Amino acid sequence: MTPFIYFIVSSCSPGSGQNKFETKPNIVLLFADDLGYGDLSVFGHPTIKTPNLDRMAAEGVKLTQFYVAASVCTPSRAGLMTGRLPIRNGMCGGRTVFFPDTEGGLPQEEITMAEILKTKNYATACFGKWHLGHAPAYLPASQGFDEYFGIPYSNDMSPAQNKSEGARNFPPTPLIEGTEIIENEPDQRLLTTRYTEHAVRFIGEHRDNPFFLYLPYTFPHTPLYASENFDGSSKRGLYGDVVQEIDWSVGEILNALKEHNLEENTFIFFTSDNGPWLVMEEDGGSAGILYEGKGSTWEGGMREPAIARFPGRIEAGSICTAVATTLDLLPTFAGLAGAELPADRILDGVDIFPVMTGQKETGKDTVFFYKGRNLFAIRKGAWKAHFVTVVKPYGPDGVTEKHDPPLLFNVETDPSEKYNRAAEHPEIIMDILAIKQRHQAGLVDVPTRIR
Ligand code: MG
Repeated sequence: MTPFIYFIVSSCSPGSGQNKFETKPNIVLLFADDLGYGDLSVFGHPTIKTPNLDRMAAEGVKLTQFYVAASVCTPSRAGLMTGRLPIRNGMCGGRTVFFPDTEGGLPQEEITMAEILKTKNYATACFGKWHLGHAPAYLPASQGFDEYFGIPYSNDMSPAQNKSEGARNFPPTPLIEGTEIIENEPDQRLLTTRYTEHAVRFIGEHRDNPFFLYLPYTFPHTPLYASENFDGSSKRGLYGDVVQEIDWSVGEILNALKEHNLEENTFIFFTSDNGPWLVMEEDGGSAGILYEGKGSTWEGGMREPAIARFPGRIEAGSICTAVATTLDLLPTFAGLAGAELPADRILDGVDIFPVMTGQKETGKDTVFFYKGRNLFAIRKGAWKAHFVTVVKPYGPDGVTEKHDPPLLFNVETDPSEKYNRAAEHPEIIMDILAIKQRHQAGLVDVPTRIR
């Protein structure tokens, strides 16, 4: 091969320069729980300090229009893990999330991002809150993860943590390793530290082979607990302490990658499962300029802070304003690993790596906002139409309001969804209603699994 031809070949390959494209990159996915759009300093919070996440953004890309698949834990995680809207596999509706007395979980037939990366011999681990089924048959071990350590569902579901009638007969909060309960009602102040220790160990153990590390933090879901080192560290109170401890954890992971000389060959992504739990008042987060939070299909419920870093591949300090979602991460990871996508099922996302690197302007510019099994809103391009809204997501009866014609907001000029433009743009509403009709015509009715 002549040097000239070599130049052409390498310039056409992403990441050319150090033959990095020949190596399957490590993938680290950091996933907070109930963190709002406005809760990181790099996303504008005035009194929470997140220097490590801020650094990740300064060395990578900040995504400002990034969404999740649902505004509560279980369906959001089902979308993340499978790249499919939860309506396609029954992972929405019913009791909204899995509870300690749930017997089921994410269907075995679903293909998770871990299973896809296993086809390329990635070592895989999940350390944290799974919430896709806690019976042994549904734990991460059955969904492509070599290792698991964590509380398998929310941290507020045991009688010790929850005084409500519903929690009275639930078991103590389990801490699981692999498929075994190793502790009951573990000290939650130590959870972020313990997840982080496992993550750092896993990175060291697999420094010579490609790995996928998924770290779904238990916090800042309530009840809030911070370790001694972070308790009282923030002007924002306990919520800020907890977020600052997650930021510390991110720093430990960045340090471990650096220590093992893996920074240049590791793609890291940080986001959260849904917006802030506003009814928790000061123990809940902030959606910043976005309206509402967890449990709603307003922007605050489903738009999340997101940061990606991949030195040499993603431009340092860049900002990506393209519309993207957690449904895009499975195809993106598959693309990075050179893995095949399943051809026998509908995937709802696309590979957004070219969007994060600025090679492409848009990914999939349509977002479906489901509340349980009902489609409440659709975003297409800059416009979002609400067919139904919840009046108070955690208020009495979760009262909903129907809108005909739909409410219509330009969420690029009006991210706070304040000014309804429906009367001025009937043609945009027609367009979005046509998208809705096509989408719903393509759905197969699958009963809810969330019981
Ligand atoms: Mg959550």
